[in-house]
Amino acid sequence: MSDSLKINLTILPEEGLSLVFSQNGEWFRSRFSTEELPDFSLLKADIRCLITRSGDTIYIRGELAAQIGQECGRCLEPATISIGGDFAYTMVPAKTETDQDVELTAAELETGRYSGDFIDLAPIVCEQIVLMAPMRIVCSEGCRGLCPRCGANLNTNSCSCRTQAADSRFAALRNFKVNKQ
Ligand SMILES: [Zn+2]
Ligand SMILES: [Zn+2]
Repeated sequence: MSDSLKINLTILPEEGLSLVFSQNGEWFRSRFSTEELPDFSLLKADIRCLITRSGDTIYIRGELAAQIGQECGRCLEPATISIGGDFAYTMVPAKTETDQDVELTAAELETGRYSGDFIDLAPIVCEQIVLMAPMRIVCSEGCRGLCPRCGANLNTNSCSCRTQAADSRFAALRNFKVNKQ
């Protein structure tokens, strides 16, 4: 499946190549090592892109729409949100043959390198999904989070310590840290 995202530049049409494709969570996970795996999971990503060239420079313009899931940053219940937006990459040939393992990093967002006759869209799409995902997600803007004293989910429960409740954002942050260990 990942091979289908490799673009053969030698047969790129004059007018550009227009692609529409979808990827799922299993594909997304497989693109990361265990240590690099994002905190969120991908449910689905729909991508449209247009690939054009001018000489050796390849231009990729795309549009991403995805659903991601993560536990709510306040109440820790599963939450799903939609993310998306436009992206653009300029790809230039790698300077030397030994440059061919260069991967796109956050510092090289707009310009990437390619070598040989192929461009792989998979790392580009994955990078965009990571970039468009917020640092944390909430199940709803009105989520009341957990009680900082007894841990009750205040969306579904009430507890006797509510009147002394501290800032629920702070509580959520503290719970988040505990949960990460
Ligand atoms: Zn919540
Ligand atoms: Zn409480």
